[in-house]
Amino acid sequence: MSRVFNFSAGPAALPEDVLRKAGNEILDWHGSGMSVMEMSHRGKEFTAIIEKAEADLRELLQIPDDYSVLFLQGGASSQFAMVPLNLLRGKGKADYINTGSWSKKAIAEGKRYCEVNVPASAADENFTWIPKQDQLDLDPGAAYCHITSNNTIFGTEYHYFPETGDVPLVADMSSDILSRPIDVSKFGLIYAGAQKNIGPSGLTIAIVRNDLVGHAVDWCPTMFDYKTHVDAKSLYNTPPTYGVYIAGLVFEWLKEQGGLKAMEEFNRRKAGKLYSAIDGSDFYASPVEPEDRSLMNVPFTLSNPDLDASFLEEAGERGLVALKGHRSVGGMRASIYNAMPESGVDALIDFMRDFEQRNA
Ligand code: PMP
Repeated sequence: MSRVFNFSAGPAALPEDVLRKAGNEILDWHGSGMSVMEMSHRGKEFTAIIEKAEADLRELLQIPDDYSVLFLQGGASSQFAMVPLNLLRGKGKADYINTGSWSKKAIAEGKRYCEVNVPASAADENFTWIPKQDQLDLDPGAAYCHITSNNTIFGTEYHYFPETGDVPLVADMSSDILSRPIDVSKFGLIYAGAQKNIGPSGLTIAIVRNDLVGHAVDWCPTMFDYKTHVDAKSLYNTPPTYGVYIAGLVFEWLKEQGGLKAMEEFNRRKAGKLYSAIDGSDFYASPVEPEDRSLMNVPFTLSNPDLDASFLEEAGERGLVALKGHRSVGGMRASIYNAMPESGVDALIDFMRDFEQRNA
């Protein structure tokens, strides 16, 4: 067996220790005689799994008691609808800061339910920067303010969080949740699709402040009402049980690594090396403003785009895969989430130097 270094933006690499543990437990979870995939979601075994996963997530993110943790389905894309359906609370308008493709999708969905104000947009320079507090034209009457904390495609990330006063801050953290400590109390709601830093796709996590629950529009579909899932402790219907189990193993792994402070140092070191390699060469370039660069998704271009195809092919031969950039940016993108080992980043940098020497 030989595993590659997988730089995919998502579904993305998972920690090998987690995959090995899941492999060892696949036929018989803890003497139950069955796979987690085969268990009733209401049995004592799965109850123990989901309760431990929630407790570990709460510990990792230091989630205050007045927040609920929900294990949902439908991806972050369903949250684009659940947020307005639940959080408008009779107000007809919301703020959405536009920092890229995922913000735009959230905005388009938001517009189906309310008037959308865009306090700032980075569209003018192809989303290569993050608006700062003094650039935000916030509406104090907005029901909430929505941000995309990390922009998976454009490779920008908030390194501060907007102050929105009494307006609840809502964050799509799909591509940087658990990569660094955050102060959950600054947010009304945080949501994330699992398939980058949490586990397999099919699981979506929402962390919601309890006073924002229970105010959905009266025609809200039952499954789209946060209250349904808060009241039923994420067991209103059958949750994505195997995804919850793998997420739980990832949370245990994160605790073993030293928690989110340690992950942030690790992620800074990995991203720092890669950005230095890019900045230190005339052959490669980063399109993103240095102060707004993502620690998770690192887009870069080759000075001669005619070499893109051979770069990707030769990288693949060395076991460095899924480096093709998104079509809206071009070039390459290395996604280096929590599970990407430093040796993967080192191998990529070695290859980049070698490729440059042979082609510059
Ligand atoms: N938001 C962000 C920041 C994302 O990166 C993605 C997926 N790549 C989504 C939302 C959409 O997530 P999903 O596919 O889980 O609906």
